[in-house]
Amino acid sequence: MQEWLLPDEEATTALGRRLAGLVPGGLVINLHGDLGAGKTTFARAFLRALGVGERVKSPTYSLVEGYDLGERRAFHLDLYRIADPGELEWLGLDSLAEPGAIVLVEWPERGAGALPPVDLEIHFRHEATGRAVRFEPYTELGRRMLQGLAR
Ligand code: ADP
Ligand code: MG
Repeated sequence: MQEWLLPDEEATTALGRRLAGLVPGGLVINLHGDLGAGKTTFARAFLRALGVGERVKSPTYSLVEGYDLGERRAFHLDLYRIADPGELEWLGLDSLAEPGAIVLVEWPERGAGALPPVDLEIHFRHEATGRAVRFEPYTELGRRMLQGLAR
């Protein structure tokens, strides 16, 4: 799939809302991109659209924030401050692997080996004053999400 242009913050937010509307059950999305590329902006819109009522904090310091969505649970991770995936052990990330869990991970490369298998990767980059994204599906579920998005 080619890149999508996100000319302003609202475009990033709209993408988050739209993808959230396509989530079937559990799902793992890894968010790649430099600082300021829009990963948290996307995650906030996505989680709000899933029904997270409370303010979505950036998990920069907590590393992981969990949200109860009735039957489902969502997790938002930011591993920027992790130096070694071994540091994740004490966080008890087992619940991320629950079948119904919806997981968003910023800086997933820093947690390599300690994270559940990814369904969809989103790569964000700066493009002029806006951003550009490209998608890489890793599972059938990820491919179906992209098909829904392209529609
Ligand atoms: P990250 O989590 O990748 O470090 P953030 O989402 O925290 O990035 O911050 C991105 C910044 O860029 C925010 O100030 C946000 O308002 C802005 N932003 C997000 N998407 C866009 C876009 N498509 N165009 C321009 N600015 C954007
Ligand atoms: Mg962030």
